Amino acid sequence: MSCGTGSRPGASPRVRARPKFLETLPPPPPALPAFAQEITPPDLSPWLTDHCGIPGVVHHEAPRPGPHVVLTALVHGNEFAGAIVLDRLLRERIRPNRGRLSLIFANLEAFARFTPDNPIASRFVEEDMNRVWSRQILSSPRHSVELDRARAILPVIETADILMDLHSMLWPGAPLILAGATESGRRLSTMIGDPPLVVADHGHKAGPRLIDYERFADPDSPYAACLLEAGAHWTANTVETTDSAVRALLRHCGLLPAGTTPPATTCRQLMVTDIVTAHTPGFRFVRPFRGGEVIRRRGTLLAQDGPDEIRTPYPDCMLVMPNLRPSRGQTAVRLARRLPARSRI
Ligand SMILES: [Zn+2]
Repeated sequence: MSCGTGSRPGASPRVRARPKFLETLPPPPPALPAFAQEITPPDLSPWLTDHCGIPGVVHHEAPRPGPHVVLTALVHGNEFAGAIVLDRLLRERIRPNRGRLSLIFANLEAFARFTPDNPIASRFVEEDMNRVWSRQILSSPRHSVELDRARAILPVIETADILMDLHSMLWPGAPLILAGATESGRRLSTMIGDPPLVVADHGHKAGPRLIDYERFADPDSPYAACLLEAGAHWTANTVETTDSAVRALLRHCGLLPAGTTPPATTCRQLMVTDIVTAHTPGFRFVRPFRGGEVIRRRGTLLAQDGPDEIRTPYPDCMLVMPNLRPSRGQTAVRLARRLPARSRI
């Protein structure tokens, strides 16, 4: 399932198993763990009324010209660490030194359905809001809760110079910034540099993410977007990682004073080479890998998927956000390798 972006020709992670492997039953699927829930949903009621004509969208504009920076939280309704940070910025009455700052609480309907008893159920209401971002889909006659909300916030997105979309992860893994496929996305992500792990990728087959929207993903576009995956959904650390990344972005764009923070450490920069999709309901990893793990040896067995084995196609292969219980057709893991020095920003 190579997306053809840098793996060696013929080096596929999916290989048909030798018969002896077929005799080995895959391990049973891991039970869904009791995910940590250290944080509670923020009270967003002050920001839902009419600030600019769109509920859940707040703008602040400086007298001095500068970029329009857009921060989006709750594109996935149960990932509210980003919403806690945006709420914090609003309660601090933060104002940009220059340009314009827009804060968007995206999928409010899904967020309103969050319940700690079933915290994974409120990712979306009818469809994944992070798979609808193309002009073709948004201008289609189709309706859903998520499509209609995407259309409502679209006028703000269409004027963004710089956008950071705030997310978190279900399964454990190192925080990272997804830069999409453009050099402008990589440049933005490495300038933020917090967290210092930047992964370039080509998105999901199921549909374009917000950062893949044409305004940002066109290689000739002057506008840039990135997606923060700040850590596990409901942990206090994830809130602080998000806070730190957001303020680094605002400093970088000149909306907040530069301050006295030390320069960011050097970022690790990687490129997703392969998207491994579960072909069977029996897809099993051989152990519970963590996102960000680097597998040193080429050919290491990662998973079994019916008659197929999934093996690392090259040395020093990083696992990006493994989904330890993928359904058939879902992305199970993405594989990434370090960008060659000439391609790093
Ligand atoms: Zn998300």
